[in-house]
Formats: sequence, C-alpha cells, structure tokens
Amino acid sequence: MAAEAVAISKLRPLVLCGPSGSGKSTLLQRILKEYPDRFSLSVSHTTRKPRPGEVDGVHYHFTDSSNMEKAISEGKFIESAKFSGNLYGTSKESVRKIAEEGKICILDVEVNGVRQIKQTDLNPWYVFIKPPSLAVLEERLRARKTETEDSLRKRLDTAHIEMEYGMQPGNFDKIIVNDVLEVAYEELKQFISENVLISGH
Ligand code: ADP
Ligand code: 5GP
Repeated sequence: MAAEAVAISKLRPLVLCGPSGSGKSTLLQRILKEYPDRFSLSVSHTTRKPRPGEVDGVHYHFTDSSNMEKAISEGKFIESAKFSGNLYGTSKESVRKIAEEGKICILDVEVNGVRQIKQTDLNPWYVFIKPPSLAVLEERLRARKTETEDSLRKRLDTAHIEMEYGMQPGNFDKIIVNDVLEVAYEELKQFISENVLISGH
C-alpha cells in the first residue's frame, strides 16, 4: 500500500508515545506552557468518557463509536486504534488546523497509532516516554485515581507490549525515562531544541 499523504506543514510534528501513566500528558503540558507560540496539541477523538476536569474540544473530542467509525470509514483520520476498550484517533482536521497556525503539532498516541503514522508522510519525530519500572507505573496510575480496577488492569497489561515496542532499536528517535520529572523534562527540552525546533522537511 502506498504511504498516505497527510503532511501539510514544513514543520515536523512531535509524537509522544508511552504506556498509560508514563507521564506523556504531564510532560507535554509543560512543553505547551513553555513554548505557547511554537507548539500546539493535536486534539484526538475518543469514545472513552471524560474524566473530571476534561473539557470537550480541549483534552479530547469526545464522541461515540458509531460516529467515530463512520468518520474513520470516510477517511477523516490519519490513524486510529482501540485502547483499553475505547477508540482513539487523530483526525486530519486536528493536524491541519495546527499547521495552518504555523505551529508544531504534538501528538499523544499509543503504539498502534505510531505504527500507522509510520505508513504516512507525516514524518514526525518519535519520542518514547518510559516509566522507571512497571511497579512505579502502577503506583502512578493508581495515585492518579482516574481508573477503575478493570481499566487499570487493561492499561497495565498493554504496558508490557508497549514497553517492548518502545525499546526496540529504530522505533523511536529518543527514549526518555521519566523517573525524576525535572530530569525527564530537561531531557525532552534538550531533544526538542536540538531537533524538533530546528527541523523542516
Ligand atoms: P500519561 O499521560 O502518560 O497517561 P500522566 O502525565 O497522566 O501520564 O502521568 C500519570 C501520573 O503520574 C499523573 O498523576 C502525574 O502527575 C504523575 N507523574 C508524572 N510524571 C511523574 C514523575 N516523574 N514522578 C512522579 N509522578 C509523576
Ligand atoms: P487516556 O485514556 O489515558 O487519555 O489515553 C489512553 C491512551 O490512548 C494513551 O496511551 C494515549 O497515548 C492514547 N491516545 C490518545 N489519543 C490518541 C490518538 O489519537 N490515537 C491513538 N492511536 N492513541 C491515542
């Protein structure tokens, strides 16, 4: 199959991937705060229910399976995947809007999304956020208090597979271990300033 043409910006996007609870949102929110004129988050669609404090159109476009499946079949998504019983996906519109603003798009996607993005011409930088251990990951997910026991189990089961994919040489441009947050953030910032901020196609 020919790689799908979805790139519309000279600026290379930044993909953050890593197990649920590894710290992607925490790190990317800090990047958005520190570089508000340079980066913008691609707001994904999802069929999962909003968590307290999550705003439709800001954290996600919250939708249902039938609408999302229809939009996927109409070719409106760059990638989409099922995760922990819900659908998630990046619409072409979300990425296009950010390109039009002249900003660098950040995508927060799980590994099947990464695999699909690699089949397109989006050509992003790929950064894997790794927890110090699966035990710490579980602790952080529990402390976040967003999951039921069932969804926590699903996320931890998937984390094993994601860690394997993340560690495989060549899959990511950079792997950052999120142990001490400040250290991980500095490492991400360094990668960004040496690569993402100065790259075009
Ligand atoms: P993700 O977006 O990858 O699912 P989050 O950013 O929501 O992960 O982080 C999961 C939880 O862990 C959050 O409650 C967050 O505050 C906390 N957290 C993130 N990074 C660290 C860290 N380095 N040390 C301790 N807690 C962290
Ligand atoms: P959460 O439910 O914790 O917000 O997200 C669960 C997982 O879905 C995370 O690993 C996150 O990276 C992933 N995710 C969020 N948006 C997308 C998306 O648009 N596409 C894909 N493939 N994964 C996504």
